[in-house]
Order: sequence, then C-alpha cells, then structure tokens
Amino acid sequence: MRIDVVTIFPSFFDVLGVSLLGKAQGKGLLDIRVHDLREWTHDRHRTVDDTPYGGGAGMVMKPEPWGEALDAIAASAGASEAGPGPVLVFPSPAGEVFTQATARELAGESHLVFGCGRYEGIDERVFAYAATLGRVRLMSLGDYVLNGGEVASMAMIEAIGRLIPGVVGNPESLVEESHEEGLLEYPSYTKPASWRGQDVPPILLSGNHGAIAAWRHDQQVERTRMRRPDLLPDARD
Ligand code: SAM
Repeated sequence: MRIDVVTIFPSFFDVLGVSLLGKAQGKGLLDIRVHDLREWTHDRHRTVDDTPYGGGAGMVMKPEPWGEALDAIAASAGASEAGPGPVLVFPSPAGEVFTQATARELAGESHLVFGCGRYEGIDERVFAYAATLGRVRLMSLGDYVLNGGEVASMAMIEAIGRLIPGVVGNPESLVEESHEEGLLEYPSYTKPASWRGQDVPPILLSGNHGAIAAWRHDQQVERTRMRRPDLLPDARD
C-alpha cells in the first residue's frame, strides 16, 4: 500500500520508521511518503494560512498550496492508478468517526493520501477539488479537538497499517481484539500465576479450551456492558 501524507510538520512522522510499521516499510509492504506542504508555496515566508473570510478568530489554510500538493501526488501516482484513484483522508473533528471497521475498509485500498489540517482547518474548497482526484473522507478520531491532523493521521495509519497482511507477524492476534466483533477484548494474563496477592483466574490454568473460550466470551460481554454499553446491540436500536 502507498500512503502519502501532506503536513507542515513532516518530522511528526519520523516515528513511522520504528516498530512494526518501520519493518513493514523495510519489507516493501508499506510505502509511506511524507511531504512538506510548504514545498508548494511561492512566497518568501512560505505562507500556508490566511485570515478567514467573514471574520472570526484564527487562521485558515490557503487552498493554493493544497491544490498543488494534491496535483503533484496524483501525477506521481499517475499511470499506476487506474479506477477510482486514491482515498484522500482529511482528519477533522467535524468528520465521520474513524472506527475499526473504517480501518479494515481502508486497509483494502492500494493508495491513501492524508491531508493534515492546522489552525482552524483547510479552506473548504480543497475538499471539493480533492474529490476530482479520488474519494474524499473527512475522518474524526473522536469528539474532541486536537491542534492538528498529524496525530490523528498517525493513529489512523497505524490502525490501518497493522491490518495489511504480513505487517503483524501472527494474523490470529488480529482476530480476537476489541472492536473486531462489536465487543471489547477479554482480560489477558501471563506468568507468574500469582502476583502481589492477585491470582490469575483458575479457569485459565485448567487446560479446558472450551471452558476458557466460554469464560472469555462472558468477560467480553460483561466488560462491554460495563464500559461501553453503547456498543451492545440493544443500544443501537
Ligand atoms: N476549527 C476546527 C473545528 O472546530 O472543526 C478545528 C480545527 S483543529 C484546531 C486543527 C486540525 O486538527 C483540523 O483541521 C484537523 O486536521 C485536526 N483535528 C482536530 N481534532 C481532530 C479530531 N478529533 N479528529 C481528527 N482530526 C482532528
């Protein structure tokens, strides 16, 4: 999968070179290209923002550098990209909420472009223009406001990247995770069996795989009921 990221803070993404995503790039499973939006400015101060029309606090990201950046990425993907083009993801607290299901969906794409907003966000016309180059998704990490789209993009890239076959060594470890079946994951324990007065639940030491699976499922349902009742089917009616 190819991932392009456009940002005014490219160094935010240095950490993508470590751990599993770093190894995935080494193996050629992921091709992550980070671009400085200011490369597509043409004034001495490399300006990417301006005051909002209609007044109000804060600054808005100018459309011109974004247009040139997206054109350059589209041109470089060019011939290799028949069909609907890339998915262009713009992190935004005013977007649809990014979930595990979204991560699974996007992990099946061959090219993603992340556009990181700053200040009060990006001039709205950029999204309409981006829709002429591919499929645009405005995605929120949750109901809170960050300073910029970098951390949000990083979270999404990690959630998507680990679902690409070969990135996580044991694919079975991806199956029984929180949010994969609409439930939170069961509690996990390792050695020692007794630690600081707390014992591992005896069922996990029983060797009875059927009983362990049933216990784990009960734990998933109970945890979800306690911590995230909104995920249970009754709550979605
Ligand atoms: N004025 C915008 C609003 O109220 O919707 C918030 C702008 S925020 C300070 C700057 C940038 O941070 C946004 O353009 C977006 O890229 C990113 N951002 C902030 N919160 C986010 C969230 N919850 N999910 C994804 N991206 C977020």
